[in-house]
Amino acid sequence: MSDDCLFCKIVAGEVPADKVYEDEQVVVFKDINPKARVHLLVIPRIHLASLEELEPEHDELTGQMIRLLPKLAREQGLEQGFRTVINTGKGGGQIIFHLHIHLLGGSELRVF
Ligand code: 5GP
Ligand code: ZN
Repeated sequence: MSDDCLFCKIVAGEVPADKVYEDEQVVVFKDINPKARVHLLVIPRIHLASLEELEPEHDELTGQMIRLLPKLAREQGLEQGFRTVINTGKGGGQIIFHLHIHLLGGSELRVF
């Protein structure tokens, strides 16, 4: 846990969030400023600032996070598919420095 990390506080229940899934390793909640009808954030319970901090010991965790995505998408009614985004570093548009996967869908998404 990183003391001044907002997402660590959400994991700890110190900051409220609209959680849709949690298990021993992962927490999933709705983005506070959704960019699509469905916009979830999939985060590890442990504090990792970004993809830059991943080590081989995190392979099981990241594999679990990725395999969770289609399951979450189906539960949210995204039968036509979904988009995932991971912003890394300031240059990648990352604002919250606790690793997270954006899961988006259910609205027209801009092609880029
Ligand atoms: P980033 O730009 O770091 O990839 O994305 C951070 C995301 O976190 C943004 O989409 C933003 O709307 C979301 N966010 C920021 N603060 C909060 C919060 O307090 N609660 C929730 N649920 N989402 C947040
Ligand atoms: Zn954190």
